[in-house]
Order: sequence, then C-alpha cells, then structure tokens
Amino acid sequence: MTHIAVLGSTNMDLVAYVAKAPQRGETVTGREFRTIPGGKGANQAIAAARAGATVSMIGAVGNDAYGTQLRSTLEHSGVDTDHLRTVEGPSGTAHIVVDDEGGNAIVVIPAANGTVDHLAPGDDGLIASADALLLQLEIPLAAAIAGAEAARAHRVRTILTPAPAQPLPIELLAATDLLIPNEHEASTLTGRTDPHAAAIALLDEVPEVVVTLGSAGSLYVSRYAEPLTVPAPQVTAVDSTGAGDTFAGALAVALGEGRPMREALKWAAAAAAISVQRAGASVSMPYRPEIDKQCT
Ligand code: ATP
Repeated sequence: MTHIAVLGSTNMDLVAYVAKAPQRGETVTGREFRTIPGGKGANQAIAAARAGATVSMIGAVGNDAYGTQLRSTLEHSGVDTDHLRTVEGPSGTAHIVVDDEGGNAIVVIPAANGTVDHLAPGDDGLIASADALLLQLEIPLAAAIAGAEAARAHRVRTILTPAPAQPLPIELLAATDLLIPNEHEASTLTGRTDPHAAAIALLDEVPEVVVTLGSAGSLYVSRYAEPLTVPAPQVTAVDSTGAGDTFAGALAVALGEGRPMREALKWAAAAAAISVQRAGASVSMPYRPEIDKQCT
C-alpha cells in the first residue's frame, strides 16, 4: 500500500452563515452556525486516506475540545495520528462569515499550528518511510523547509501546494519535486496571469508543476516530459471548498502507486469532481471505489 506523509495544519472552521456580512462596528443576526473540521494539511490527509493510501499526519492540535475532535476526525478516515502532537493551548481555528451571495470573510488563528516550526523526534524517520510527502503553507515555513529537506535527503517525492499564496523561500523550492498551485497562486508566484506561462516560469524553480484550473481541469509541465492538459469531468458543482486538497491527495496516491502522470491527473480530477458535487470540504471527499467509478 502507498504510504503518504502529510506535514501541515489542522483547523476547526467556525462558520457563521448570514444574509449580509456585518460592516465595522455593526452587529447582525446570523442564520446558522457550523463547526467543520478543516485545515489544508488535515484535508489532504483525509483525501489521500480515502483514496486508498496509508497516511500519517504530522502537525499539532491544542489540548482543547477542538483538538480532540480534529484528531478523531482524522482517525475516522483512517489517518494515523501518532505524529500529530497535542500542545498546551488552543487548536487552530478559522472564523468564517459566509453571506447569501456566497462571499466570505475569514480570520485564521494558527494557534497550535504555529508551534509546528520544526520536525519533532521521529518525524524524519516517518518521512523516510513514505512514498511521498504532502506539504502546504498553513504552518511556519521553517517546518515546511525542514520537511522538504528531510524528504529530499531520503529521496521521497515532495508535493507542495503553495497556499496561502506567498513568496516561497529558495530552500523550499529547491527541495520540492512537484508544485501544485491553483491559477491565483501560480500568478502570485510568477507575476504572470496566463496559467501556462506561469507554469513554464515555475519550471525555473521546480522540476514539475501542475496548475489547477477549477472546472477547466489542470495543466502539467515538466523539465523532462511533454506538457499535458487534463480536463475536469463536467459536473454540477455545489461547493468547491476542498477541491484543491482532494485533487492533491488523490494525485499523491496515484503517483505513489507508480501510475503515469496523465492517468494520475485524470484520477485526481475524478476525485475532485466528486467532492465539488457535495457540500463541505473533508466530508465531501470520495473513497477509492467512487473515484474508480467516476474515472471509467
Ligand atoms: P479550493 O481552494 O476550492 O479547494 P483550488 O482553488 O485550490 O480549490 P481549483 O483549481 O479550483 O483548486 O480546483 C482543483 C481541481 O478540482 C481542478 O483542477 C478540477 O480538477 C477540480 N474542480 C474544481 N472545480 C470543479 C468543477 N466545478 N467541476 C469539476 N471539477 C472541478
């Protein structure tokens, strides 16, 4: 079985649904409140586990009720949490206001995720035993760099989702094998609005790039192989939250199984297309038989 290590964030999303978001100094009465387990690290871990890999999550939760809930959500999807530390203080939270037009405003408090600024004892060995390391940027960059460098030292493929978008340090790029930005992130990283031009520019930094293009699918460029464009299945999208994380998790699994890039991208697109047809992020992520069925 493919083994994926994920180094990243776990957050509890606290979502208030309102007709219209409050202005500064204003109080409004909302319609509904939900707590939704999230964080890009946890989401990618759940996506990869449901797609059929053995998955280990490296990160931290707080010693509060959210921490307990976040850990059990991961375990419920089969993710190993032995390397998910419990630290003193609150878990990471995202405070989200969603209005009736689908617009949102978000405040993220990293809390426990902010303590993930290094690899803990045992993390290096775990990364060494994996077929791929999945990284995102909701933890301190120092840990992402340490994780990528550990993976490089052990010849483990590092797959980085550069979100939230920000300039990337050279050490991180130098240890990244595959970068998966969405269109916006690709443009932030390169200053180019055309996704293909941005992808090509990114090849100066990393050997392989997949730019995800929402309902338009994805494009792949490589220093060593021909470029590919892979369409997304035509589906009726209900909620695209977590589509990128579903895509990254499934892609890591397919590549870890040694499947060719075109086939892996098609399979990842099938997984993401299922997730956008359902509400929520991690709860919408498909299990392997569903992905195989969508792919045929
Ligand atoms: P998010 O932030 O919503 O998780 P993202 O912005 O990181 O997503 P996108 O490029 O929007 O990433 O989507 C990732 C992948 O999900 C796409 O490459 C595509 O395969 C799939 N996808 C997204 N939206 C749709 C859609 N409406 N229909 C089919 N597939 C979709």
